[in-house]
This record gives sequence, C-alpha cells and structure tokens, in this order.
Amino acid sequence: MEVDVMSNISITTVDKSKIDSFDFENVKFGAKFTDHMLVCEYKNNAWQQMEIKPYSAIELDPSARVFHYGQAIFEGMKAYKDDNDDVWLFRPDQNFERFNKSAVRLAMPEIDEERFIGGLKALIDLERAWVRKGQGNSLYIRPFMIATESGVIASPSNEFLFCILLSPAKSYYSGKIKVQIAEHFSRAANGGIGAAKAAGNYSAQFYPTKLAQEAGFNQVIWTDSATHTKLEEAGTMNVFFRIKDTLYTAPTSERILDGVTRKSLIELAKSEGYQVEVRPVLVEEITKAAADGTLKEIFGAGTAAVINQIEGFSYKEQYYQLPELKDEECFALDLKNKLTRIQNKLANDPFEWTV
Ligand code: PMP
Repeated sequence: MEVDVMSNISITTVDKSKIDSFDFENVKFGAKFTDHMLVCEYKNNAWQQMEIKPYSAIELDPSARVFHYGQAIFEGMKAYKDDNDDVWLFRPDQNFERFNKSAVRLAMPEIDEERFIGGLKALIDLERAWVRKGQGNSLYIRPFMIATESGVIASPSNEFLFCILLSPAKSYYSGKIKVQIAEHFSRAANGGIGAAKAAGNYSAQFYPTKLAQEAGFNQVIWTDSATHTKLEEAGTMNVFFRIKDTLYTAPTSERILDGVTRKSLIELAKSEGYQVEVRPVLVEEITKAAADGTLKEIFGAGTAAVINQIEGFSYKEQYYQLPELKDEECFALDLKNKLTRIQNKLANDPFEWTV
C-alpha cells in the first residue's frame, strides 16, 4: 500500500513564536534554532509518521546505542529567500543522496525522498519568516539520524530517530584563517568512514584541531593517513589551491567528503573560464609554490562558510604566508560572490541548482 507521507504528517505549532526576540544582526552560526523541528521514528523495520512540533528536548534511554557506539549521521544545507519572498534550497538532492550513503556506511536505514525532502519543505514552509533575504543570509538546515534502541550491545540499533533542525545563519567564519597541515594525526583512512557525514569523524578531529588552535591556527588541513604527503580537506570544508592561475583540488575518495560546494565551485569556475584541475595535491608542491611565489591562494569550500580564504599555513614548524592580493585579483572572492548570488537568487542559475 502506498502511503501518502505528506498528508500523514502531524503538525503541532508553538503558541507564540520567539522570532521577535531573535537578533538577526548578530547571528552566531548554529547556536539558535527556529520554533519548530521535524522528527520521524524508525521502528519495526519502517519509517513512521513524520511529526513537526515545537523545538524541544529529546528523551532517550541512557543505554541508547548512539551514546555508546556513535551510530549517528547528519547533513548540512541551506535555504535562501529571494526578493519576492520565495524560499529556495540549493541542490537538496545532493544532500539527500549523501545522507543515504552515510546511512548505509553506518548500518542505518536509508530514508525516502518524501520524508527527507518533503519533510524538509514542510518544515521550512512553516518557518518561512526565519529565512532572511540578502546575500550571505540563509537558514542553515541540519538533518540528522541517531540510533535510539536501548542496550549496551555493540551491534547496530533497530530503532532510529530522524530529525531536522533549522538555524538562521550568516556565514561561518569571519575573515581569513591560518591552517596547520597535518603531519601525524589523520581524519580518515582507506576503508574507514571519511566519506560519510558521520558524527565520529568530527569528534576525532577535535583533539588535533585543539592542539593546532593552541599553536595559533584555526583549522587543520588533513593529509592522507598512509603517507601524509597528499592534501585532503579541512575541518568542514574541501580545499582549493591556486598555483599561478590554475585551481587544484583533491579528487573525492573514501577518505574525503564529497562536498556540494566543492562540486558546484568546480563547475562554476570552469564555466567562468577558470582553469581547474581535480587531482591529488602534494604537500611538497604547495610548500615549493609558496617558496617560489607561485602559490597565490588557498581556500576552503563548504556549506557553512561557502568559501573561507586561508592566509597562511604551517608545515614542519615552518609558517608560509600567502601573498596579499587585491580583492579583484582573488579567485576565491569572485567565486564566492558568484556562488552566493546564485544561492540567494540574485543572479541567474544556468545550472538549475536552486529548487
Ligand atoms: N568536508 C567535510 C568534512 C565537511 O563536514 C563538509 C561540510 N559538509 C565539507 C567538506 C563540505 O561539504 P558541503 O559543501 O557539502 O557542505
């Protein structure tokens, strides 16, 4: 029997919205959430009815698998509002597909499009007022799934909770950042879960990133775990390097997250006439190019920050400062401007990325 999931969604709204007391001018990324959230349980081998309800705490048994074995995945995407007050999503199909890939890798059930995309649209529709217009403004969307079955047994859960939270956003980082290239620690290994958006990938980064921050850096650029000679990605961003006038970025692999911003930038940059090469980027190339002055830019690319310029990096105790380019000379700024204009519907979208 086919179930009409959307007519099957139960909606309970708040008595009074907290939007009037929300300070949209001073938004701290990911800190505050809208009035409602979406939840959907998985049990008896099936996804249950979706529920939109007031944002509130989730009650779980202390022995729930997620607390002990980290069976948890998430996504990150954004909604934007145009000048006509229409709300747009940026390539949600990509996040939906990646979510299910993560689910498979973590032995979790895949979710159907009606629930992931349909549920998301229903929730955002209710929260339209929380999406602000203007370049850089957005509503950050955090779908996630956790293993809820009780029992400290190291085996996959049979029960799960899918949930979507919404959080008003500007941009994630302000200003340029300094990064450290990883020489010892690794984020992911072949055969591991690096390509999944699994909670454990992030907790594994916290300690090395904390050490890097204590040494005066904002982030770590991870290298391949086997040789530490190839540059992979940063905390929550894929990375691009500009040597002379060519942009280089590593191919995605089972260690690297297949970023939506990365793949969009590659397409956008090519269509704008930039030279882009997707191939392994060696640490040695970058230190050499920095030394001979041909390394012009490094930037991270991800949903939260869109593009984050990097001003310098350290490797083997040496710090390499990148040149100060004029704004109009920066590929990063040009691409960021072009991509955010497409996302915010301030420019044409020849790629049909916005939905
Ligand atoms: N790498 C990692 C590890 C990430 O967490 C993210 C953020 N999702 C990215 C890259 C960038 O991916 P996207 O452009 O899809 O946000």
